[in-house]
Amino acid sequence: MKKNPQNGSAKPRIIRRANHNVTRSEFPKSALKVLYRLDKAGYQAFLVGGCVRDSILELHPKDFDVATNATPEEVKALFGNCRLIGRRFRLAHVRFGREIIEVATFRASANHDHDDHASDHEGRILRDNVYGTIDEDVWRRDFTCNALYYNIADFSIWDYTGGFDDIKQKKIVLIGDPEVRMREDPVRMLRAVRFAAKLGFEIDGPVIRAIDHHAHLLPNVPAARLFDEFLKLFQAGNAERTFDLLRDHGLFREIFPATCEELDRDADFMRFTRAALRNTDRRVEEGKSVTPMFLLGVFLWLPVKKLAAVRRSEEKMSESQSLALAAYEVVAQQQRRISIPKRFTVPMREMLSLQPRFEFRRGKRAMKLLDHRRFRAAYDFMLLRTEVGQGNPEVAQFWTDVQMQSAAERAASFQLRPQAPGKKRRPRRRRRRKASPES
Ligand code: ATP
Ligand code: MG
Repeated sequence: MKKNPQNGSAKPRIIRRANHNVTRSEFPKSALKVLYRLDKAGYQAFLVGGCVRDSILELHPKDFDVATNATPEEVKALFGNCRLIGRRFRLAHVRFGREIIEVATFRASANHDHDDHASDHEGRILRDNVYGTIDEDVWRRDFTCNALYYNIADFSIWDYTGGFDDIKQKKIVLIGDPEVRMREDPVRMLRAVRFAAKLGFEIDGPVIRAIDHHAHLLPNVPAARLFDEFLKLFQAGNAERTFDLLRDHGLFREIFPATCEELDRDADFMRFTRAALRNTDRRVEEGKSVTPMFLLGVFLWLPVKKLAAVRRSEEKMSESQSLALAAYEVVAQQQRRISIPKRFTVPMREMLSLQPRFEFRRGKRAMKLLDHRRFRAAYDFMLLRTEVGQGNPEVAQFWTDVQMQSAAERAASFQLRPQAPGKKRRPRRRRRRKASPES
């Protein structure tokens, strides 16, 4: 068995129900059902990870992970509403209406001594798929605060790594040697920052040092994995704090290099970015929807604007066209770090390239902007630019006002010429638009 002399022993400290505050009433019926049924069938059944951590902190957890010594097939045999997912490592998903409870079988670390291909030359884990016992499973987890197991058999908490005390002391501590663990999976650096921002915890000194040493390994992480992480970093209600911590620890430049360069040079861009982050946090707090394309558009705005100016100097084109073209190029660069799905990049380019159109306030074409499917996002973006002094307040007010006006008032606002009665205008032939590079 793999013991960890640094952070704990192979024997857990068992915190009895009377000595902790985690109550079953915090957990949804579905999760409890899964746990009880596993227990009744003679298996070990624990809640683990974020839900135990958040319950201790009275933060009302939202997702519930179950860990067990039953194999995925054994779990499936117990639940009719169960699907096995994952090719590399099988997980059981037990479904209750729209809710899914993920049930994972304990895993052991792969034995790297006998498998040359389990990690890359930097030490990053590539394969990791052996079933194990709870006292093997625990050492694979990242932080001590994420490695507590709530036992449904007697409602105790099992703590192998000192996580319970670390939570009380509000500390983010890595299990094992921080240098090794960060090399194994550089995403843990982002997770350290995310939990510090979310929980208001302090990152332990050795973890900070390991981040300093290994921040440059983040670009080795597959870009596909980082989009999910991006969402968790910036849409969980602590975007501004997360942003500051990422910058403090040299991580932001690894995931948004072009943005970072401009932020260092341009105080206005920094103000704009901050306003957007605060705006996102406010929306999350108010329970409003947030779309990643807005913040991505903000992060990439100055790089896009600058490149658009270059493209315009090389070839004759409208400002909107140059912004669309530049956004395409800048997004392509950004995709190397974080792969952003097309359903976000396409509207984001539209949102950015619509910006110059707010300047035009006369005529039918100007008015048509109101019907554009990206009007709302582009308008919000323009308001934010104006809020930080990068737009004309009069223009912003105009577009705010026209949205409330009646058709007749609108026609007057846009100074449309009244049509002579009875006289039909010949329909204008539409010119075919050039196909855009991405659509
Ligand atoms: P939250 O759900 O609030 O984001 P969480 O701790 O539940 O936080 P998840 O990403 O849901 O985070 O992961 C569940 C658990 O799996 C974690 O608590 C941790 O024990 C383990 N884990 C997740 N990612 C890693 C990783 N990169 N390295 C090691 N362990 C991990
Ligand atoms: Mg979780």
